[in-house]
Amino acid sequence: MPTLRIDLAAIVRNHRRIAALAPSSVTAAVVKADAYGLGAGPVSTALAAAGCRDFFVAHWGEVAAVRERVPHDATIYVLNGLGADPAACLATGAIPVLNAPHHIAAWRALAAKIGRELPAILQLDTGMARLGLAPADFVDLIERPEALDGIALRYVMSHLACADEPDAPANREQRDRFVALAARLPGTPRSFANSGAAFLGPDFHFDLLRPGIALYGGAPRPDVAMEPVVTLTAPIIQSRRVAAGRGIGYGLTASAPHDRIIATIGVGYADGWPRRLGGHGAAFIAGERVPIVGRVSMDSMLLDVTDLPEEACAPGTAVELIGPHQSVDEVAAAAQTISYEILTQLGARYARHYIGLDAPVDPETAT
Ligand SMILES: *Cc1c(COP(=O)(O)O)cnc(C)c1O
Repeated sequence: MPTLRIDLAAIVRNHRRIAALAPSSVTAAVVKADAYGLGAGPVSTALAAAGCRDFFVAHWGEVAAVRERVPHDATIYVLNGLGADPAACLATGAIPVLNAPHHIAAWRALAAKIGRELPAILQLDTGMARLGLAPADFVDLIERPEALDGIALRYVMSHLACADEPDAPANREQRDRFVALAARLPGTPRSFANSGAAFLGPDFHFDLLRPGIALYGGAPRPDVAMEPVVTLTAPIIQSRRVAAGRGIGYGLTASAPHDRIIATIGVGYADGWPRRLGGHGAAFIAGERVPIVGRVSMDSMLLDVTDLPEEACAPGTAVELIGPHQSVDEVAAAAQTISYEILTQLGARYARHYIGLDAPVDPETAT
């Protein structure tokens, strides 16, 4: 059956490579969206075993899957900030990123109510206009002496809009704005870098790095390749001869002026394979490129294997969709998207094999 292999040792090596770029900083791991689709449980287990103690998720509902896999001294942060019920957030044991004045007010109120300081990260928006206090709101806030009463700030953080474009002037502008604003919170540790920013040099590292995509083998920017993590393969279900001039698949598109051999594999858009790759993308059989022809269906797609010897495309033959011949970034480029979207859309129907740990993780208990 279609099989997704996830190399946990490669994830650990990618994490170590980033940590080595910033030896005097802490390197966290961003495991939001089920660790970019690869399984927050096994990924967190592997990174925790390798010594990582700081994990970021996006939603409160993502906390539990990480919590049960990491040691008690590990910290989980929630990027999207406080939910509607701050007491329920507190009960998860995770720490919110406070993004807006109402987050701060709610966390302070809870701290006052229960009579103890509550930990948090404060996010500043330094130019992306997504999450975090606008500079004017931040200045307003800290000019009030009681502004952060009851809040134990672990970090002040911000996030780059163009970290994957090393020459974008916005990177330095956001960084300088961050330094100037964070100076209003003397002594508070700072966090700034995602994967791309980790490769922008020590000026961008600060105290805590927050890499995501680079851990999972995605290129943090076009000129930096990480160790691949994911292999996606599917066996050929059936091959058939299609006469010259005949269309194939839904809409009977993609006819050709010559006879062809068309092979079907059981991966489609319901498995996260982009429908856009019909007629654009390719797969590989024993290292040979085979184009995806016709429309990608929900549960299957068609490959033109005419140029392969017949025995090379018998039913059961393994077809590589992501692997040594085609990186996740190449699939993303062909589909006019980014590796993040390809990984996070990988469907639930694959057999998942986690490799690279001393003891293989049983996929039944892995997710
Ligand atoms: C998702 C996210 C990250 C990780 O970004 P990558 O580009 O995947 O390294 C870091 N910080 C914040 C605020 C994020 O939302």
